[in-house]
Amino acid sequence: MINIPKGTKDVLPNQSCKWQFIEKSARETAEIFNIKEVRTPVFEHTELFLRGVGETTDVVNKEMYTFEDKGGRSITLKPEGTAGAVRLFIENGLASTPMPLKTYYITPCFRYERPQAGRLREFHQFGVEVFGAKSAETDAEVIFAASTFLNKLGIKKTELQINSIGCRICRAEYNKALKEYFRPHLAEMCETCRSRFDKNPLRMLDCKEEKCKKITADAPKILDFLCEDCNTHFEKVKSLLSANKVPYVVNSGIVRGLDYYTKTVFEFVSTDIGAQGAVCAGGRYDNLVEELGGPSLPAIGFAAGIERLMLLMENTGVSFPDGQKPLIYVAGMDDATRAKAFEIVARLRANGVNAEADLMERSVKAQFKYADKLGAQYVAVIGGNELISGEANIKNMTEGTQTAVKFGEIYSYLKCRQSF
Ligand code: ATP
Ligand code: MG
Repeated sequence: MINIPKGTKDVLPNQSCKWQFIEKSARETAEIFNIKEVRTPVFEHTELFLRGVGETTDVVNKEMYTFEDKGGRSITLKPEGTAGAVRLFIENGLASTPMPLKTYYITPCFRYERPQAGRLREFHQFGVEVFGAKSAETDAEVIFAASTFLNKLGIKKTELQINSIGCRICRAEYNKALKEYFRPHLAEMCETCRSRFDKNPLRMLDCKEEKCKKITADAPKILDFLCEDCNTHFEKVKSLLSANKVPYVVNSGIVRGLDYYTKTVFEFVSTDIGAQGAVCAGGRYDNLVEELGGPSLPAIGFAAGIERLMLLMENTGVSFPDGQKPLIYVAGMDDATRAKAFEIVARLRANGVNAEADLMERSVKAQFKYADKLGAQYVAVIGGNELISGEANIKNMTEGTQTAVKFGEIYSYLKCRQSF
């Protein structure tokens, strides 16, 4: 027996309705915000992520699934969706289409991480990327889209945390201050932090080691270093959120795990799923399009982890809609009646009704039992008498009532009682 690889999960037939519900909610959210779907390959040239995600990030340093293909190219399975979406945007000349361009994707992502609750090696993201708009309204709209999505799922208990990590100009000042602060503590900090000190001190704030966290707790705060432009932008985002009654808290500790962010960054965090509490995270990335070889053009987005959302929904008792069930099961008892049942079911299906007939050559009693297990709402039995009368006896399984209905009128009978 060959097992599933570590850190991956199967979706079983009785669980797929949960996935479909989350995906449907994502698509409905995109629909009302006029966000269009894009699809990019599961793998890209490794270079895209080195430049896009950033060489000093955990994702690039330790988590990527990178391999050489048979043609000797370095290929990486996408660890996140933004870099690919930006490549698509640039490569297809979408910058010359009317701006803003709002896009979304639902995609698998791959990261070689230590698997635990809410942390997998293959996971899925619903992501939104909006290109070409630098206004604070855009930040607010992207955050609204994320919170609309969470609301659609019925998730109430998350906290929106926001921060601004400035632009190139204020970040340079801040990095200087951070280095001054960290320099005397360097000896006490972990190796990763020490290696980040020169290249990317901001990353040190993202360290999860206890000894480092103690030191970073008192580090200078980026919000005290924002330039006027970044500060005004951040104030405006906050006031738009308040005016539209989207509660938030400012958390100056959020720097995000990827290097491309500028200005606004945010996370929707839950305390109900253990340590991996960020169910949705994003921010502005005004330099990435240019850094990946496109025009200088602002952008902002978010990505929500589907497995983490599902875990949160399960842990907090948020209900999922039922999975698919036959509206009607049509039972037969011998060759002739089974053939009739088959024909009735075929006609119902042609009219878009979820209808089932026996494929297992079961007795009528066993068919009833099976229909009940499937959750069929109606069961019709075709026996010898029914063949002669041309009517089926339709039993409503919840109410226990029975009605004789002409074979040709079963569809209209069901339609009168259902909205499908
Ligand atoms: P974390 O701090 O939890 O490692 P991250 O900063 O690496 O998250 P992002 O790259 O921002 O995460 O990804 C966006 C979302 O994707 C996260 O908020 C989370 O819901 C989900 N996610 C990230 N990594 C994983 C993983 N290994 N398994 C499952 N979901 C994940
Ligand atoms: Mg991570």
